Amino acid sequence: MPNTLFDRVFAPLAGQDRPLLHLADGSQISASAFAVLVARLAGALVALGVQPGDRVAVQVAKSPEALALYGATVAAGAVFLPLNTGYTAAELDYFIGNATPRVFVGDPAQAAALDPLCATHGARFMGLSGHGSGSLMDLAARQEAAFAPVDRSGADLAAILYTSGTTGRSKGAMLSHDNLLSNARVLAELWRFTDADVLLHALPIFHTHGLFVASNVSLLTGGQMVFLPGFDTEAVIAALPKSTAMMGVPTFYTRLLDDPRLTRDLVGHMRLFISGSAPLLSETHIAFEDRTGLRILERYGMTETNMNTSNPYDGERRAGTVGMALPGVEVRIMADGQEVAPGEVGVIEVRGPNVFQGYWQMPNKTAEDLRPDGWFITGDLATRDPDGYVTIVGRAKDLIITGGYNVYPKEVEELLDTLPGIAESAVIGVPHPDFGEAVFAVLARTKAMAPELDQVRAAVAASLAKFKHPKGYAVVDTLPRNTMGKVQKAELRKTHARQFTS
Ligand code: AMP
Repeated sequence: MPNTLFDRVFAPLAGQDRPLLHLADGSQISASAFAVLVARLAGALVALGVQPGDRVAVQVAKSPEALALYGATVAAGAVFLPLNTGYTAAELDYFIGNATPRVFVGDPAQAAALDPLCATHGARFMGLSGHGSGSLMDLAARQEAAFAPVDRSGADLAAILYTSGTTGRSKGAMLSHDNLLSNARVLAELWRFTDADVLLHALPIFHTHGLFVASNVSLLTGGQMVFLPGFDTEAVIAALPKSTAMMGVPTFYTRLLDDPRLTRDLVGHMRLFISGSAPLLSETHIAFEDRTGLRILERYGMTETNMNTSNPYDGERRAGTVGMALPGVEVRIMADGQEVAPGEVGVIEVRGPNVFQGYWQMPNKTAEDLRPDGWFITGDLATRDPDGYVTIVGRAKDLIITGGYNVYPKEVEELLDTLPGIAESAVIGVPHPDFGEAVFAVLARTKAMAPELDQVRAAVAASLAKFKHPKGYAVVDTLPRNTMGKVQKAELRKTHARQFTS
């Protein structure tokens, strides 16, 4: 009897006497030991009354047990629902109420607060700590070392991941077995992953990047992972010589570049560095190549769609672009109901086996973003070169409309980022009595010096049309970012909302 995702990703681990996970403390977990952990956790879920289709919500520190719990949930035919470890009890109240999981697995240290919260929504609280202890593990220890996976077809749900929800409430993206498996297969082939690979895994596993892109690709291809609890420069530098590939967010690369120990020698064993989840600055791409001789491969995706585009493995990895549509995935760039000409800006739409099933219990939101013929409206603005390379210029909701003119923040940011004293910039629209919105630039200064605003204004005047000029500037030490390295523009818009109005 088949279980689409489990059969390909987890089942092959059973009985394999080879290392699977290398942990920060130097210990290892073999593939067979991991498979036993998955089986015992699946048994524990069933003992807790988890039925096929039930949600299992999980807010725990990254650990091998947490990864095994993903496999166990899929084996039990249930729906894995990972939650950002940063969410507070008040935020959890919304997620638990919205998703109504059968079981909520959380930090045992929070049991006193979370147990009653879970109970109000009919969920059972179980503990799992970052060290692999807690009531869930106690129950798992009493289960059989083998588990017969529950039947699940490709169309059945495997996971619900809540979007980061920068505007309004988070929405639960429903992902099927086929959505996850099809994407993992395409990426594994495109990026040439094999059982000889050791993936440096320092991403969180509550997000699509670390959970699906990284873990599924590595597990599917029989590789090993250096499984770190998070990005710690020391630990990553220690792990690079024994790894062959890393998947990271752009901040991983800027942090590595800040360290003089990043050299060609250090990465001599690495065959591939991949970046995604937030824009990689061209200058980071170039600086990384200068230092290491390796070109970072940038790709683009989102919670709702898995991965959509990637730079090529063999062909040109073009800095500042996210490459072309993945095999089997259709990408079009639309404005006013039509595909735009090469070089013109429009909204990216995607269709393919990777695209989600809709938002959990939000049919109206689903209908807004997912067309009946399968095209998903991503909300990302982009251009496409005649040879297929896509360049993201921002989020549609970040587009600034000032006095009736459209300003794409990225165009202004790219110029600002080249100026002395500016490490990086974020250009936003803020309310303005005359123009509706005014262009406003937040400049993160370099460590060495702050930018001279007169020089900045002069450089802007020399290369951009007047309507694109920032009408105000703020200089800060760093830009606010979330755990995936995305600049929090909504937060900046709030902070600077009253620049031109009282
Ligand atoms: P999430 O659902 O949290 O994975 O966020 C998805 C969003 O991250 C996309 O809609 C893009 O706006 C952004 N994103 C992902 N990858 C890239 C990339 N390589 N370059 C620029 N933006 C990206």
